[in-house]
Amino acid sequence: MDLSKLTIAAARQDLDAKKYSALDLTNAYLDAIAQKDGEIHAYLEVWKDSAREEAKRADAMIAKGDIYPLTGIPLAMKDNILIEGRTASSASKILENYHASYDSTVTEKMKAQGAVFLGRTNMDEFAMGSSTENSAYGTTKNPRDTKRVPGGSSGGSAAAVASDMALAALGSDTGGSIRQPASLTGLVGLKPTYGAVSRFGLMAMGSSLDQIGPLTKTVADSKILFDVLKGNDPRDGTSLPDVASIAAPQKKVIGVPRSFLKEGTDPDVLARFEETLKKLEKKGYEIRDVDMPNIPYSLAVYYIVMPAEASTNLSRFDGIRYGLSAAADDIKSVYGKTRAAGFGPEVRRRIILGSFVLSAGYADAYYRRARAVRELIRGDFLRAFQSVDAVVTPTCPAPAFTFGSKSDPVAMYIEDIFSVPANLAGVPAISLPMGTVVRDGSTLPTGFQILAPHTREDILFKIGQELESA
Ligand code: GLN
Repeated sequence: MDLSKLTIAAARQDLDAKKYSALDLTNAYLDAIAQKDGEIHAYLEVWKDSAREEAKRADAMIAKGDIYPLTGIPLAMKDNILIEGRTASSASKILENYHASYDSTVTEKMKAQGAVFLGRTNMDEFAMGSSTENSAYGTTKNPRDTKRVPGGSSGGSAAAVASDMALAALGSDTGGSIRQPASLTGLVGLKPTYGAVSRFGLMAMGSSLDQIGPLTKTVADSKILFDVLKGNDPRDGTSLPDVASIAAPQKKVIGVPRSFLKEGTDPDVLARFEETLKKLEKKGYEIRDVDMPNIPYSLAVYYIVMPAEASTNLSRFDGIRYGLSAAADDIKSVYGKTRAAGFGPEVRRRIILGSFVLSAGYADAYYRRARAVRELIRGDFLRAFQSVDAVVTPTCPAPAFTFGSKSDPVAMYIEDIFSVPANLAGVPAISLPMGTVVRDGSTLPTGFQILAPHTREDILFKIGQELESA
C-alpha cells in the first residue's frame, strides 16, 4: 500500500474490491503517524484504539454492502470541531481539559458513513494565525521543508495530509485557514460558500466568516468530502436551504483582478500564476482583467470584522462555563485570572482590538465603516460574476516562510491578503497546487485560488479538475 499515492477515491475502490481491509488501511496510517509525527507534530492527540474499532465497524459495513463514500476512510479532525466525548481544545490552554458534550453536524455525517477518526490536529490558538505558531502546544513543521511553517490556522490538518498521516482532513476557514496551509503544503483546500456546511459544533471565531471544509490531495477528493459535509442544518441559523444545483451556462471566461495582484507578491509566485493562466487558455478559457476596486480594502476590513466577532465569541470562556477556572476571591477576578492564564498573546491582542472597534466611541468609525466596505467588496464580486465564471488569484503572496520570520503581527496578517475577500463576500474558493519555487535549496509548493459565485462549488471543481489534468 503506497500511502503517498493514495486518494479517497482510490481507497474506496480498493476497500470495496477487498484489496485490503479498513483495519489494514487504518493501521497503515497509524504506523505512518508513529514514524513521522515525532518530527512533524501534526497531531495533538491520536485516537489509536477507537480508530481501530471504527475501522472494524467499517469492515463490517463493507461486508454487508452498506457502503458510503467515507466508509473506512481514515481522516484527521482540526482541534476546533467537536466529537462527543473527545477533547477539543482549539489549541488553547483555556480548553486543555474540555471534552465535547455533543457531535458537530459534520462529525455526525462522517460517523453515519463509517469514517475513521485518526486524531485531532494542531492549529493556531482559536484559529488565529497563518503559521500554527500560535498553538499553545508547540509548532507543526511543514513536511515539504521542516525549517518552514505549514501555514495556518489548519496547519496540523495540512501537515497530516501532506505527510501521508491521514488520507484527508477537515479544517476551518475564517480568512484563509484551509486554503493558505493547502497552498503552503501542496494540497487542495476548499472554503465552501458561507452557509453551505453547518457550523454547528465548530468553535466560533468570526461567525459571519467561518466555514468548515476539506484538505485533500486532489480536487476529486475535495468534492467527495464536500458532498458529505454540505446540507441544510436547522441547528445553524445561517445554514443555506438545500436547493437543486442550477446548471447555468458556462461563459468560459475567467477574471483576473490584475491591479490587486501586483503589490508585494513574490515574482516567482506571479510567474507560476501566469503559467497557470496559460493552461486555462489552452483549455478554452478566455482570461480577462476584472475591475474590483474595493477588494484591496479586504484585509483592513477583515482585521476589524473578525476581531470584533471573535472578541464577542470568546467572552464565553470565563472560567465558569468551560474549561480552565482560576481560583480567586470574587467573580470578576475569576474572569480576569482565568483569561489571563488561558489565552495566548495573539488571542488577547484580537480581543483587545475587537473590544476597541466595538466600543461606544469607536463603533461608527471602525466597525460600522468596515461593514459598509464589506458590502462594497461583496458588490465587486457580484459585478465581476456577471461577466466571468470565476475569479482567480494566487492563494498566498509567497511560499512557506521559516519559523519566527513573521513575528510582527502585521507581517503575518499580510499573508491573508488574497484569501480574506472570499470570506467577506461569502463566496466559495478553492486552492490547488500551481507548481513550485525553489528557496534556499528547498522546492516549495505554491497555490492557485479560484473563486466562484455563491453556491457554485461545481465551477471550482470543474476548473480545478481541468487544471489538474493540464
Ligand atoms: N490567518 C487568518 C487569521 O489569522 C485566518 C484565520 C482563519 O481562517 N481561521 O485570522
